[in-house]
Amino acid sequence: MAERSVLVIGAGIVGLAIAWQLRRQGAQVTVVDPEPPGEGGASFGNAGAISSSSVAPLAMPGLLKQVPRMLLDPAAPLHVPASYWLRAAPWLLRFVAAARPSVVARAAAALDALQRLATEQHLELAREVGAPELIHANGHLYLYRDAEKLAKDQAGWDLRRAHGARVDILDRAGIEALEPEVAPAYRIGVFLPDHAWCASPHRYAQAVAAAFVAAGGEIRRDRIRTLTVEDGRVTGALGEARSHRADDIVVAAGAWSARLLAPLGYRIPLETQRGYHVNLQDAGISISRPVVPADRKVFITPMEGGLRVAGTVEFGGLDRAPNEARARLLYDDLAAVFPQARFAGTEGFWMGHRPCLPDSVPVIGPAQRLRGLWFAFGHGHLGLTGSAPTARMLAPAILGRPTNVDFAPFAAERFA
Ligand SMILES: Cc1cc2nc3c(=O)[nH]c(=O)nc-3n(C[C@H](O)[C@H](O)[C@H](O)COP(=O)(O)OP(=O)(O)OC[C@H]3O[C@@H](n4cnc5c(N)ncnc54)[C@H](O)[C@@H]3O)c2cc1C
Repeated sequence: MAERSVLVIGAGIVGLAIAWQLRRQGAQVTVVDPEPPGEGGASFGNAGAISSSSVAPLAMPGLLKQVPRMLLDPAAPLHVPASYWLRAAPWLLRFVAAARPSVVARAAAALDALQRLATEQHLELAREVGAPELIHANGHLYLYRDAEKLAKDQAGWDLRRAHGARVDILDRAGIEALEPEVAPAYRIGVFLPDHAWCASPHRYAQAVAAAFVAAGGEIRRDRIRTLTVEDGRVTGALGEARSHRADDIVVAAGAWSARLLAPLGYRIPLETQRGYHVNLQDAGISISRPVVPADRKVFITPMEGGLRVAGTVEFGGLDRAPNEARARLLYDDLAAVFPQARFAGTEGFWMGHRPCLPDSVPVIGPAQRLRGLWFAFGHGHLGLTGSAPTARMLAPAILGRPTNVDFAPFAAERFA
């Protein structure tokens, strides 16, 4: 019998992890992207955190109180510039509505179902593709200045605990035992021992791509313009360079996915939350795991080749130029936690597009209106974390294997 052919649109970490799983399970798989694997989107430069217990969605009760600062303070961790208010308004309304306790509970259950085994699944994926040295499973350390600040995040920590996460509260001595160089102003730590991290998200994507090609998969450089449909079934895709035919198509184009699906009648509220990173080759400090100052909402990660400070959320769409002022805030964030850090050897900055849905739950699973069409996008702040788990969930379903996965919480149709 001929192998089932699958076209995966998008060579970010989500598309690549899916392509790898499909190929391992016997499908004939082609990945298409205008950029080299792991270079076209957010998968290139994220903070590397594998956050299996991050089940609290971004929109939590109390969100409404934060909206004025988001709109008015350009240095706020989440900022919507005035020139983008009108464009962002419909999404922000949905975002605020998603902070209702019932929606939060549903989102947390879905994220838990997806990510619970993320650490194990990434350790396994990295081993399979011959890059086990990239994944480290020694936890994440969050930092707070005082009990009052910790109390503000209590609902999120409680939600994680309710879903079985290990959340250890540390005093100053506990912080120093893990990361001795943290500034004394941070008195309380929250240690998540089951979290992991990747020392080079770019090299990880490249390793998955290389293993996929070595196993007989194909990667094509092309930008898909439209999907072709006949009699209620997708049959292929038209790119700028050529047409691509396949039995099944997976849309894994990160923040660009909604644009691709709009001509098919899908109106998916996918908004890019632009984030930045700076890398410091020689910061002169040593940490053993991601450190996250909770008041600053950035990750400081010990990457291959130096320290990475990554974070900030900025609305501004897919097409506007990056805003260097946002990236510069990351130096202040680093200095707050490590005043002794040296800023020599900085490599400039990078911006990436987090593909965000209002309820923080990605769209994963079969399209209900079109046969042969599958979705895998919208992982927001957690797409590295969710990539290997998404692939495990989706590949058997695409191949028609028995699976007990419930795709309903992840359905695109929840936005209809
Ligand atoms: C600053 C920052 C820090 C982050 N930190 C973390 C973290 O610590 N942990 C975590 O889990 N997540 C993190 N994230 C989120 C994570 O990076 C993303 O959720 C994830 O990379 C999304 O992967 P993806 O494969 O869906 O999309 P992307 O990596 O964006 O890839 C999408 C691909 O689709 C391609 N594409 C677009 N349009 C087309 C088209 N028409 N035809 C063909 N191909 C197309 C693009 O070229 C691109 O290569 C962070 C993000 C940012 C920006």
